[in-house]
Amino acid sequence: MREICDETGALLIFDEIQTGIGRTGKLFAHEHFNVTPDIMTLAKALANGLPIGAMLATEAVASAFGPGAHASTFGGTPVVTAAALANLETLVGEGIVGHCAETGAYFREKLLWLKERHDTVTDVRGMGLLLGLVLSDDGAPLVMGCLEKGFLVNCIQGNILRFAPPLIITREEIDALIACLDEML
Ligand SMILES: *Cc1c(COP(=O)(O)O)cnc(C)c1O
Repeated sequence: MREICDETGALLIFDEIQTGIGRTGKLFAHEHFNVTPDIMTLAKALANGLPIGAMLATEAVASAFGPGAHASTFGGTPVVTAAALANLETLVGEGIVGHCAETGAYFREKLLWLKERHDTVTDVRGMGLLLGLVLSDDGAPLVMGCLEKGFLVNCIQGNILRFAPPLIITREEIDALIACLDEML
């Protein structure tokens, strides 16, 4: 896509609202692919729960905007931007992004272990702490079973369990979830 955009002069925009801010084990997911977008959007995790949205652009693209050209009712308020800054300083300064990469790799290994043990698990997808367990069956009963044991798990497209845990999740917590899934599978 980067190559096509460069050839045609189109802008490449990455929506990193879910994949950014450490989730995939790097601060931004595009860093895994050595590709830089012209524009990137961020929100949600940026201020760790306080409402914020941001559009980042390269110098060349940003120069097309003047003050007031791109507004947002609650964008860039002092309290929320202070929270975003504190959040980024914590994530980067306290090694949370690295923790995300490490525990994500551990989590992925454990999901692959489940795949080896259970024929109903057909694939493991994702990176960092954004992972999917693809099932040959309906995933809804597993979601309910997990909930009864105290784990909030999402099922998407009917048969994929989607894991997007807090970035501070521990190996012990991952082990407990895996044991729960193993038993139910
Ligand atoms: C939530 C979300 C949006 C919308 O973000 P707003 O801050 O509500 O505009 C866009 N893209 C993705 C991937 C999201 O998860």
